[in-house]
Amino acid sequence: EVDWFSLASILFLLVFAPLIVYYFIMSCDQYQCSLIDPVIDLLTGNKYLSDIWNKTPTLTYRAAGIYTLWVAFQVVLYMCIPDFCHKFLPGYVGGVQEGAVTPAGVVNKYEINGLQAWIVTHVLWFANAYYFHCFSPTIIFDNWIPLLWCANILGYAVSTFAMIKGYFFPTNAKDCKFTGNFFYDYMMGIEFNPRIGKWFDFKLFFNGRPGIVAWTLINLSYAAKQQELYGQVTNSMILVNVLQGIYVLDFFWNEAWYLKTIDICHDHFGWYLGWGDCVWLPYLYTLQGLYLVYHPVQLGTANAVGILMLGLIGYYIFRMTNHQKDLFRRTNGNCKIWGKKPEYIECSYMSVDGTKYHSKLMTSGFWGWARHFNYTGDLMGSLAYCLTCGFDHILPYFYIVYMTILLTHRCIRDEHRCFSKYGKDWKRYTSAVPYRLIPGLF
Ligand code: NDP
Repeated sequence: EVDWFSLASILFLLVFAPLIVYYFIMSCDQYQCSLIDPVIDLLTGNKYLSDIWNKTPTLTYRAAGIYTLWVAFQVVLYMCIPDFCHKFLPGYVGGVQEGAVTPAGVVNKYEINGLQAWIVTHVLWFANAYYFHCFSPTIIFDNWIPLLWCANILGYAVSTFAMIKGYFFPTNAKDCKFTGNFFYDYMMGIEFNPRIGKWFDFKLFFNGRPGIVAWTLINLSYAAKQQELYGQVTNSMILVNVLQGIYVLDFFWNEAWYLKTIDICHDHFGWYLGWGDCVWLPYLYTLQGLYLVYHPVQLGTANAVGILMLGLIGYYIFRMTNHQKDLFRRTNGNCKIWGKKPEYIECSYMSVDGTKYHSKLMTSGFWGWARHFNYTGDLMGSLAYCLTCGFDHILPYFYIVYMTILLTHRCIRDEHRCFSKYGKDWKRYTSAVPYRLIPGLF
């Protein structure tokens, strides 16, 4: 059942999320990244909405061509080139991997080749920038708003297609979720793992590529624009490129692990993931780099080192916490966490067909400090990206505000789901590990 609060939030997001993205990007384009000035202009009658809209670049054939080529190229890399990285990179898990058991008891297979797609794409990018010169490395920045319209078209098309597919030709009917509320179903999705054919998995493709592969390219394009405009790339821009680059590479290095995260294991595929991956992620996760094009910030050494340390420590906590759970689950608890055998709580749950499964919730390592210490690390890294931009404008801080809301909401959503799954066993776990994000506080 969909409660009124969920419905109100969904309607709010469906209407306002595209406007929020437009507002942020427009304010950089027309107001040097000031979020306040457009409002002041409108309230004082200095400008009308139509003035702002008329100044906004429209969809162009060039942008449509770039975007189509980009998505088609990622589809080809995803579908046609089986992973070869796992054959020569020690420790990397790629190739055909299994996802988690779905509520209907299905285990999907995935071709994990995201790292390869990322490497091929970036090698070509650098080859073009330094050798072939077929297009300018500032191409993304130069077409940023026309590309926004393309991303929206794809985001809406894929979400609508997923909805229709869920009703008429689902990949696995038993894993579909119908609430009967059109808006909720459109937003949160009906199908669990929609696929075309055996291998084109919507969730893995849209979550990972084109958005996340593009993330580092977008940042590189911003750095190239700084170079073009000011004759140098600032240390803040380098920090953003490096810290976010580590995060993106981490994602692809651990793509097989990603199959066991909430996005793939628990969320259905609807507008939230489809539109979010195409528009929200590439446009709002890269705001710091965009801001630095308009406001190049050269940080003092102490500040730069401080931010780098915060970012790296945050990343370490994020990665180690995720690694500890992954190791614990893969070995069924037969491993060492911080040099000792892990402690855990035994729990059980039932799938929809009535089969009983057993599971374990670890209470050692970072998982004994807080129930979502991986989110805490993620938030520290997110804050580091924002701090690179100084304190003149609030726009670059959108990311940390958003991530705090997203991850806190995710915590609550996940715990609600875990409670319905594990019942009293979950209660035992929350008594053993009472805090969610910050030990002793929350
Ligand atoms: P988690 O990796 O924390 O997975 C939560 C699941 O893990 C639970 O549903 C439960 O699943 C299992 N679990 C919970 N507690 C324990 C425990 N003590 N021991 C063993 N298993 C446990 O969450 P996410 O999938 O949301 O996040 C993965 C990472 O991705 C995080 O680091 C997060 O920061 C990051 N992330 C980043 C986003 C971004 O936009 N940048 C967005 C979302 C996530 P089960 O049913 O199997 O028991």
